[in-house]
Amino acid sequence: MEYKKTDIHFIQCSPEELDESDRKLVELARQATYTAYAPYSHFCVGAALLLDNGCHVCGSNQENAAFGAGTCAERTALFYAHAQHPDAAVKAIAIAARGTDGEFTQQPIAPCGVCRQALLEAQKRGQSPIRLLLAGRTTIVMMSGVECVLPFAFEEIV
Ligand SMILES: [Zn+2]
Repeated sequence: MEYKKTDIHFIQCSPEELDESDRKLVELARQATYTAYAPYSHFCVGAALLLDNGCHVCGSNQENAAFGAGTCAERTALFYAHAQHPDAAVKAIAIAARGTDGEFTQQPIAPCGVCRQALLEAQKRGQSPIRLLLAGRTTIVMMSGVECVLPFAFEEIV
């Protein structure tokens, strides 16, 4: 028997510390929250992708009365990107959200487990790390790859 551990590395900064490209991606994610269809949760999430061809693709959560039929912002953006740009790799994703008060969340939010798995597969498909930018109002959390939020994905792990 062998004890093992894994570490998760991330950078925490303020929005003002982002470079121009990342700042734009966060702004696109924030704008995308206004296209959310969230009559059930009233929690509006936006995601913005940067592709390796330079294109930006945005998505928002699209809910449904049959809850399982709805889709998160991250997967809305991801699947649209792959449908429109099947040969492009995703380089980065920014995620932002507005709560029931209509304001952007103070703290960053992280993708749900299903989206983490979808993002990990997109990362493998693109053969390139997908940087994560999780955007709160005053705090940004940056991660260098999807494995940072899903260390034990649905695959062989050792
Ligand atoms: Zn999700």
